[in-house]
Amino acid sequence: MIILKKAADLETYLADIRAKSLPIGFVPTMGALHSGHLSLVEASLQHNAFTLCSIFVNPTQFNNKSDLANYPRTIEKDIALLEGAGCPALFLPDTEEIYPPGYQTKHYDLGALEHVMEGKYRPGHFQGVCAVVDRLLSITRPDILFLGQKDYQQCMVIKKITDRLYPDTRIEICPTIREPGGLAMSSRNARLSDEEKQKALALYNALSFMKTNLKPGPLENLKKQAVQQLEKYGLGVDYVQIVDDSNFSIIDTWDGAVKISGLIAATVGAVRLIDNMSLY
Ligand code: AMP
Repeated sequence: MIILKKAADLETYLADIRAKSLPIGFVPTMGALHSGHLSLVEASLQHNAFTLCSIFVNPTQFNNKSDLANYPRTIEKDIALLEGAGCPALFLPDTEEIYPPGYQTKHYDLGALEHVMEGKYRPGHFQGVCAVVDRLLSITRPDILFLGQKDYQQCMVIKKITDRLYPDTRIEICPTIREPGGLAMSSRNARLSDEEKQKALALYNALSFMKTNLKPGPLENLKKQAVQQLEKYGLGVDYVQIVDDSNFSIIDTWDGAVKISGLIAATVGAVRLIDNMSLY
């Protein structure tokens, strides 16, 4: 696997790939890789795309300094995992490469997406996500961008700016990969003790509960019961919400027909986790 650290080197390298008429599949990550990340690499390889992964812990998307300081970093292991998965190229920039001197902060219009759920509980987070995705896509110009359903709202945010700024880039959203008990794989799980991992199963169980007990009509009670289940295991609940998948708007009543998903953010010990599930 070739490892490139400079944007200019990567651009030159990818120009050569493009000249060979290979589509470029791009998998951006913040490292501490697990099978969820590797499933995106595999999806890109299956599309017969030249697969580029990036690892960059993006400081601008952390609204909480200690979260950034504690974010797991396992670069040697990550490189071994990518090589094992057959990934041919890794972009591993430092902060100055992504945000060079003179870099101008932009504002991205995200509409309502910025004010609900992750947008509401992590102020500035999505502006930081957009900043890094904009920089990474301006350098890599991929044909296909591979994202994980695990970060459902983030997928919607990235789709919104990509459609506007990089219309030639297609987005593929890949299913959430879970631990055997149902816990969604996340780099942040590395910070959970064994006991906390058990408690964290409450997210998956609360989503499954909502799926099983869903019926047409008001959803308030269903959401309240899910919150109670999470609290029973000592989790701090930021939100339990249900959205209409066609436009990602929060719904309070379900007509029994439209596709909907449940989304949860909750804290286990010092670790904030998110998860979501298609309910219908
Ligand atoms: P991150 O390193 O957490 O920024 O994630 C990089 C990419 O991997 C994002 O598109 C995530 O949505 C995706 N991802 C993270 N966890 C999972 C998972 N459990 N299953 C599938 N994709 C995931």
